[in-house]
Amino acid sequence: SWLTLPNPYDVPAEICAGPGVPIEPAAVDELLTVLETARTLDTLAAATPGLTVTPRVDRVVGTPDFHKGAGIPIGTVLRTAGALVPQAVGNDINCGMRVEVTSLTADSVRPRLDELETRLRHLFFEGGRRIGLTPAHREGLLRHGLPGLLAEGVPAGAEGVWRQAGPGDTGGRLHSAGQPATSADEFRDWIDSGGGTSYDSIIGSVGGGNHFAELQYVTAIHDSRTAYEWGLSPGRVVLMVHTGSLSLGHQANATGLTQARAAWPRAVPMPANRILPMLLDDRNAAGRERYLTAFTNAANFAVGNRFFLALMLRAGLAEAVGALSSQLIYDAPHNLLWPGEDGSVVHRKGATPAGAGEPVIVPGSMGAASCLLRGLGNGRSLESACHGAGRSIPRGATARGGDAELDAFLRDFRVVTPLNHRDPALAGRRDVLDAWRRDLKQEAPWAYKEVGPVVGSLQTAGVADPVAELKPLLTVKG
Ligand code: 5GP
Ligand code: MN
Ligand code: MN
Repeated sequence: SWLTLPNPYDVPAEICAGPGVPIEPAAVDELLTVLETARTLDTLAAATPGLTVTPRVDRVVGTPDFHKGAGIPIGTVLRTAGALVPQAVGNDINCGMRVEVTSLTADSVRPRLDELETRLRHLFFEGGRRIGLTPAHREGLLRHGLPGLLAEGVPAGAEGVWRQAGPGDTGGRLHSAGQPATSADEFRDWIDSGGGTSYDSIIGSVGGGNHFAELQYVTAIHDSRTAYEWGLSPGRVVLMVHTGSLSLGHQANATGLTQARAAWPRAVPMPANRILPMLLDDRNAAGRERYLTAFTNAANFAVGNRFFLALMLRAGLAEAVGALSSQLIYDAPHNLLWPGEDGSVVHRKGATPAGAGEPVIVPGSMGAASCLLRGLGNGRSLESACHGAGRSIPRGATARGGDAELDAFLRDFRVVTPLNHRDPALAGRRDVLDAWRRDLKQEAPWAYKEVGPVVGSLQTAGVADPVAELKPLLTVKG
């Protein structure tokens, strides 16, 4: 179940994949190109005397949903020493999955689905969310994560959502993604402008494309002891939210690249693979700090965004079905880096942590099953698992399926989208509707692998064991 990649850099590089899980040769080629960073680090070390930790690439792992991405493939885990690599984190810093288990059962929700769809469309897309953050809320969230936001009180305008949903579990079992930052200077304009009016800078946005807020229910239990511990039982309704840091992550990444360029020794040529690591030495400390602060701000924002999206799902359920409680199972980041005390850095791009006992969230696609697993802390995988079933058709490749087929699955799978194609105002806007259809076809179940064999390879490789299977009742797509 491990594919060992031969490479001239003496770096252990492996991909975890079992039978029935196709691995793209193009992505493997890209991974081998990434390994040239080992040579880059040698060259940098030679040009930089007096380093305390010798910079190197320690280990590279591909997860079972490994596939082509921009630059470094999605599903790549990279451990370095003495250097960090901003490009080894996805563009969407701290994109991740949040899962909550509610007190409701599928049987009580099913008869209310039409009403729920109407409520959620209003909350998500028709001005119903009204989460008016003040500059103090924004700064609190960016610097100190969710606790920083909540310390400023319930945001004005969010009271409605809040009252119906209840504050619920606001902290709890976050991965260490939410961390304090010393400032939010990189986002000062955004804070001062009160958030502006642009769609993608407002908290409570799903974020388009592959992101979603989904209502699911438990269809099978594979590990009853862990399921009981996490509050899962057959038929129980679960909320799953996938979103990231929207435009903030992109801005923090741009800062990272600028700082990496600024710190580049003039004597060292730019690497052919265009990947620019930052050495962890004192000379670069200011630029690196600036990047890491912006990075942390974006990561904190993403946790807050997932929290609000889950709150909106809860509010819709409360309105359409009735009072409920909801408990956070986990908020798991899949685009992040973790600097260690010893100078090591673990980077995950489209890969989720799978420490011993840690919840591992593996979504399938809209309309298909998703899976919750329990991590086993496998060192060979760098304690990492796949963060989804993964694409079988690259994004941007011509999506198959006609409009009728698309309409059928949007209806059957109850996909709630910003564009209601029944809206008379859109009747004459073929261009808008066509672009929307093209995007959604990229997200159709046939564009993704089946989750079963992907999860099977995690189990066979000793990375994580399945706990429960989930199926969707309704999916909100940004
Ligand atoms: P990412 O886009 O972060 O690389 O991957 C997210 C993963 O979520 C994909 O690999 C895919 O398996 C899964 N996914 C994409 N869209 C949906 C959806 O609407 N619902 C569910 N349950 N999973 C999805
Ligand atoms: Mn994302
Ligand atoms: Mn993601």
